[in-house]
Amino acid sequence: MIVAMQESATEQQIQQVIEHLVRLGFSVHRSTGARQTVVAAVGARADFDIRNLEVLSGVEQVHRISAPYKLAGRSFRPQGTVVEFANGVKIGGPEVVVMAGPCSVESRDQLFTVAEEVAKAGARALRGGAFKPRSSPYSFQGLGLEGLKLLREAGDRFDLLVISEVMEISQIEPMLPYVDIFQVGARNMQNFNLLRELGKIKRPILLKRGIAATLEELLLSAEYIMAGGNYDIILCERGIRTFETYTRNTMDISAIPIVHKLSHLPMASDPSHGTGRRDKVAPMARASVAAGADALLIEVHHDPDKALSDGAQSLYPGQFAELMEQLRIIAPAVGRKIA
Ligand code: PEP
Ligand code: MN
Repeated sequence: MIVAMQESATEQQIQQVIEHLVRLGFSVHRSTGARQTVVAAVGARADFDIRNLEVLSGVEQVHRISAPYKLAGRSFRPQGTVVEFANGVKIGGPEVVVMAGPCSVESRDQLFTVAEEVAKAGARALRGGAFKPRSSPYSFQGLGLEGLKLLREAGDRFDLLVISEVMEISQIEPMLPYVDIFQVGARNMQNFNLLRELGKIKRPILLKRGIAATLEELLLSAEYIMAGGNYDIILCERGIRTFETYTRNTMDISAIPIVHKLSHLPMASDPSHGTGRRDKVAPMARASVAAGADALLIEVHHDPDKALSDGAQSLYPGQFAELMEQLRIIAPAVGRKIA
């Protein structure tokens, strides 16, 4: 940590800062310049709140030089994490894995129709919500356990992994027989009790960025899961809330290379929730692959006008197949391949 003192700081104020740091167990290195004094403190505890220093008199700025997350940080596994599945699919390796399916599981007919289409186009995982986090309590809330059974059946029929959202601790156990990946939705990114419980299981987790979360907060949430011993985490950008209203959210493509720099965890992209508009999904999916995304999560529906959730952002199967063709051209330009 670096504490830059104000030019006008008195010797007494500088000493006060040094004593404060020594009391907290830091080893302190002072550098006295012609105009300004800088104090470097080594040995920061991960949970140290730099505001405690910022408020001391004579202090101009405080910078943290080590990340507050340890397990999720790139230096923990410089070579990167690859999440592997029993059927040979790998997320975080040279191949980009596409996960697709409806926003919600609505019926057997709907799910099997969409699953067949996305498998034919080259998706490797089937998405579909059985427990839905809806903004309104009057909207469709999902089929629950029945939806999970359908997902597993369709996944097995079309050789697709299954990913579905877990909203609360009590759902983890009942979901285990049916899902290959537990999705933690944007609204639950900071449900720390849920994250802790997911740290105790041996099943990959796709952790979505909260709608107003910084990337540091996303990585700290991953840290909660990893601290429990589950290192199989895929992070996911799904758009954040900004002042722009044209799209449902603002797709933060830059989050992809930033997370790759800060963390060893694979980074996925969800351009469906990132834009909320069908016509903007393909451009953002293409940009995500170009920016280095390790996986994509895309909503597809065979009859989106009748979808019970997120129809406006769901691709028609034909649009999805066309997008897959384009991604197969883009991926090699950045040294990747579509799985
Ligand atoms: C979803 O994937 O359907 C979903 C609800 O996502 P998010 O948590 O990103 O809103
Ligand atoms: Mn959705």
